[in-house]
Amino acid sequence: MSKNTPKIAVVTDFDGTLMEQDVGDVLMEELGIVHAPQVMEASQLFREKKVGSLAWIEAAYPLLASRQLEVDQLLKSVHLRDGALEFLDFCEQKEVPVTVLSDGMQYYIEQILRSQQVQVTKVIGNPITYSAAGQFQFGVQNTNPACQWCGCCKASVVKQMKADGWLIMYIGDGSSDYYGSAFADWIFARASLANYLREEGTAYYPFETFHDILAILRANWPMYQDGTAAGRLSGRYPSACQFPVS
Ligand SMILES: [Mg+2]
Repeated sequence: MSKNTPKIAVVTDFDGTLMEQDVGDVLMEELGIVHAPQVMEASQLFREKKVGSLAWIEAAYPLLASRQLEVDQLLKSVHLRDGALEFLDFCEQKEVPVTVLSDGMQYYIEQILRSQQVQVTKVIGNPITYSAAGQFQFGVQNTNPACQWCGCCKASVVKQMKADGWLIMYIGDGSSDYYGSAFADWIFARASLANYLREEGTAYYPFETFHDILAILRANWPMYQDGTAAGRLSGRYPSACQFPVS
C-alpha cells in the first residue's frame, strides 16, 4: 500500500469494548480463580503497577486448565456491546478492515465470535486455548524483546500497522489500551482508558455503545478518510513502552 494514500483500519479491544462484559474477569471471578493466593498476589502487584498484565496472566490463566466445560458454560452469559453488529456492518460497507486486539484469551474470543456469527478481519490475542482433545495450551502474544510488561503487546501491533501505512481508529476501555492506543490516529474510549486519556490531556471520543461511534463516523466519514477529522493524534506513546532499537 502506498503511504500517500492511507486507508483506515479499525483496531478494537475485545473485553469491555466489543463485548459488554470483561469476559476474562467474568471467568476468573465466577470460577473463583481471583481468590487463588498467587492470583491475589499478582493482582495486588498489578494494582500497585509493580508488574504488568503478563505477570498476572501467567499467575491466573493456567488455573483454567481442565475447566473448559465450565468456561464454555459461562461464555453463554456474555454478549456483544450494543451496536457492535451495526458497527461491523458499517466497516464492511466502507471496506475498513477490523482487527480485534486483545490481552485476553484467544479461546474465548474465537468461541464468542463464532457463536455470535461475527466476522472480523483478524484476531490478535494471547494464544491461550484448549486443543481439540481438550488439552490446555498456554502462551502470550508478546514477542517484543525490549519489553515484557503486557501479555499482548498492543503498542507494537498498532505501531507496525502505522508503519505499514494505515490510518488507525482505535477503540478501547482498559489499561492495556493505554499502550495500544498510543500510535492510533483517533481514539474512541470509555471507562479507565477514557479517564487515563483525559488526565493525560490526549484527545479522544467518548463512547458507551457502538451507536455513539457510528453517529460520529457517519456524520464525518469523508474527513476520516482524508485524515482531517478532529482529534487526530500522531506519534504519541506512553514512556513506559519500549521497543528494540532498529
Ligand atoms: Mg478491555
